[in-house]
Amino acid sequence: MKQKITGFHLDSENHWVADLECGHRQHMRHDPPWMERPWILTEEGRRSRLGVELECKRCDEAGRAVAEAVRKALISAAQQAYEDGGMSGLCAEGRWDLALDALGAADLSEAIRRALEAK
Ligand SMILES: [Zn+2]
Repeated sequence: MKQKITGFHLDSENHWVADLECGHRQHMRHDPPWMERPWILTEEGRRSRLGVELECKRCDEAGRAVAEAVRKALISAAQQAYEDGGMSGLCAEGRWDLALDALGAADLSEAIRRALEAK
């Protein structure tokens, strides 16, 4: 996921780190010949990169974690509703309707919060 650079700071080892709008950070090393980023060494160079978008892998990971947590919560809600429908003596169609209602009514905020906290 692309995120804009909002600022820069030095880490404890004096390496420049870009601050991204999502709150994540990314090292911007100038380490020739592996990494050529001479612009990071000057105030003017850093200022010229403000607003530039970087690919944020941590946001992608968070997105995948949220998707997985939501999928698990929905499967669990549907299974629970389907079982409850069976206990109540509903026919297959009634159990299916109950499971679909459960998908629509599932509160996913807790699952999403936990997935993001782990990131
Ligand atoms: Zn991010």
